[in-house]
Amino acid sequence: MRLILLGLPGAGKGTQAHVLADQLGLLHISTGDMFREAAANRTELGLRAQEFMSRGELVPDEVTIGMLLERIAQPDAEKGIMLDGFPRTIPQAEALDAALGERDSQIDAVLYIEVPEDQLMSRLTGRWTCAGCGAIYHEQTNPAPEVLDCCTDAKLTQRADDQPDTVKARLDTNREWTEQLADYYEAASKLHHIDGTGDPSDITARLLAAIETVPTTAAEA
Ligand code: ADP
Ligand code: AMP
Repeated sequence: MRLILLGLPGAGKGTQAHVLADQLGLLHISTGDMFREAAANRTELGLRAQEFMSRGELVPDEVTIGMLLERIAQPDAEKGIMLDGFPRTIPQAEALDAALGERDSQIDAVLYIEVPEDQLMSRLTGRWTCAGCGAIYHEQTNPAPEVLDCCTDAKLTQRADDQPDTVKARLDTNREWTEQLADYYEAASKLHHIDGTGDPSDITARLLAAIETVPTTAAEA
């Protein structure tokens, strides 16, 4: 299966992708994680991306599309993919469709996780991530245990772009594009609306219920 998790920053894409990709045997691809890793390694691509990320802006399509298409062409993506944070623009969505189409493949479903915007600021400013494995916590809603059980030696880190001013910029940047992408995939009859409020395990169940409705032929592809 080839699935997209769509939603504004803080909607819970990463949280759900960590659980679902494992459960469904899919490769979790987060373009945000790829950019952060490249930035940490101080590669040319990473340093370029960091300029945009630190302002809460989108990394230009010409950088992002090439990086993502290269990643999904790797052998480990053949088992199926769960995209988190890509596409974020219509040209990205079109490039993805074209690249998959060339391989007689396609996106099977787009799961649009919807959360009222007034909840997103506190979700993002309270987010902490395990530096070892990327497990996502929240200081109020999902506090990390005192001794991490995911990676005993790793530290929790807070993302530089989760400061209030940058969060606001990120929400402003993403709002219109996210709606446009929802329309794009609705027109292709691939969009599933998922209520992203409440307990994360309830949201996982809603996502799985939506995925079950995806036609079996696509699910087996
Ligand atoms: P995204 O990947 O869409 O930006 P994340 O999965 O990183 O979002 O979640 C953002 C923050 O919100 C994290 O701190 C996470 O622990 C928290 N979070 C995720 N799902 C929920 C939920 N259902 N209720 C409350 N907080 C949540
Ligand atoms: P995320 O981890 O998904 O919240 O992404 C963090 C940041 O990485 C975003 O604010 C953008 O600057 C950049 N980014 C991630 N994915 C994309 C994308 N598909 N297109 C453009 N920029 C992206």
